[in-house]
Amino acid sequence: MILLFLFLIVELYVKIARVMSVQRYFIDQSCIDHDFIYIDDYNHKHMQRVMRYRDGDDVICLYDEHVYLYKIINMDKGILEKQKELDENHELDVDITLIYSLPKNDKFEFVLQKSTELGVNRIVPLLSRRSIIKTDAKTFSKKYERYHKILKEASEQSYRNHIPELTSLIHLKDISQYLSDINLVAYEEDAKQGEHHSFYQAIHSQYQSITIIVGPEGGFDETEIDEMKKIGIISCSLGKRILRSETAPLYMLSVIGYSRELK
Ligand code: SAM
Repeated sequence: MILLFLFLIVELYVKIARVMSVQRYFIDQSCIDHDFIYIDDYNHKHMQRVMRYRDGDDVICLYDEHVYLYKIINMDKGILEKQKELDENHELDVDITLIYSLPKNDKFEFVLQKSTELGVNRIVPLLSRRSIIKTDAKTFSKKYERYHKILKEASEQSYRNHIPELTSLIHLKDISQYLSDINLVAYEEDAKQGEHHSFYQAIHSQYQSITIIVGPEGGFDETEIDEMKKIGIISCSLGKRILRSETAPLYMLSVIGYSRELK
C-alpha cells in the first residue's frame, strides 16, 4: 500500500515536471532532416526514461545558435516535428575565453560545468610550468567525450544558446591565438602588493571580447607572467584573499557577468 502510494506520488511529480518545464536539448546536425529531428540514442533515452515524454509533448531543440519548439510525433522511434522558432537569447553580450591552467583531480570538470553556467564561450586548457598534473595533448584528448557531455548538460541546464568550445591542450607559447580585445591574467603577487584597479578598469572599458587567464595551484612563475606581459596581457589582482585555482575563474566570470547584465 505504501509502495503504491509512493509510486503514485512519483508519477504525479513526473507529470507536473513534464508539463511545467519544457526540456531543452542540443541537437546534432546529423539528426536533422528538414522539419524533422530523428533524435540520437542519448537524448532519446533521456526523453523516455527521465522525462517520460509521450507523443504530443513539446520539447525545445537548439542548433546553429537558434532555439526551436518541436513536438514529439513518435516517442518510440524518437521523431520530432518543428513547430516554430523561439526568440530567445540567454548569452552574455561579450565573448569570453578562459585560459585555464589544468588543476589536479576532477577540479577541471567542476570548472567546465560552472564556467558554462556563468557564460564562458571558449575554454582553453593550458599546461604551465607549475602544473601538478602530468599529461599531454594526446592523453588529454581521450577525455574529450566526457568533457563535451559535461559542457552540453551544463549548457542545457543553464539555458545557454550554444555549447562552449573546448580547445586542445596548449602551452604558453600558443597563447597568442586566443587573445581578445582585453586580456587579463590573474596574478596573486599583484594581490599581495595591494593592486586593486586593473580588473575593475578593464571591465569598465569598451570591449566585445575578453580573455581571462588563471594559473595552477602553485600559481604562474614570474617568467611566465613576463612572457604574457610582453604580448600585451595585463596582470591583475582579484582582491585581498588568495583564491583556489578553481575559484578564481568563477570569480572573474561572475564579475564580468554582473558588470554586463545587472545594471
Ligand atoms: N600558490 C599561490 C600562493 O600561495 O600565493 C596561489 C595560487 S592560486 C591558488 C591559483 C591561481 O588563482 C593563481 O595562479 C591566480 O591565477 C589565481 N588567483 C587566486 N587568487 C588570486 C588573487 N587574489 N589575485 C589574483 N589572482 C589570484
